[in-house]
Amino acid sequence: APTLGILALQGAYEAHAKTLATLGIATRLIRTPDQLFTPDGHSSIDGLIIPGGESTTMLKFLERNGFLDSLTTLVRTIPTFGTCAGAILLANDVQNPAQISLAALDITIERNAYGRQLDSTILTAPTKLPGGPLEMVFIRAPRITGTGPQVEILATRDDFPVLVRQGHLLAATFHPELGHDPRVHQLFLDIVSSTSSKAILASAP
Ligand code: GLN
Repeated sequence: APTLGILALQGAYEAHAKTLATLGIATRLIRTPDQLFTPDGHSSIDGLIIPGGESTTMLKFLERNGFLDSLTTLVRTIPTFGTCAGAILLANDVQNPAQISLAALDITIERNAYGRQLDSTILTAPTKLPGGPLEMVFIRAPRITGTGPQVEILATRDDFPVLVRQGHLLAATFHPELGHDPRVHQLFLDIVSSTSSKAILASAP
């Protein structure tokens, strides 16, 4: 079984651990940069989840002890799934307001894009995942306003992407860990198992 890490500095990390537990996957809560790599510089996890929460708060923690640099290196090659604030951290370009990021996923993302009234909502929409429409929980969600050519759009809300994939990276502007449908996590597990760890080690810096 793969070893999955969940960034657990702040936010909705426990719900991800619970969802993965229902799929039979044990997880490791990541709170320090030394948990990411073995002493000889290899990744100690096969995949990483960056949860929802408050991206600015997460960045404050990440700016200590070289955590941001370690994470930036890791997400270049290790399958990573960002939800909501996690999607913001993965994005190449963050707006409203602009903030630094891991700059791994070729999207432009606008924070808190739905305004006060409509800031949290649950809706059911079609996706490219097998198994019919998916329930999506949005909480002070960002909006993906641009995607690069490598980015595959797997679901939209009002014509804006809400679930996207770029190779080993997956991002959702909603919270799949708060619903009862494990299909998005299953997709991430499929990405993890199709990304050979040997290939990852060979391409690690
Ligand atoms: N509004 C948060 C941010 O900008 C994201 C909200 C969430 O993760 N549910 O970081």
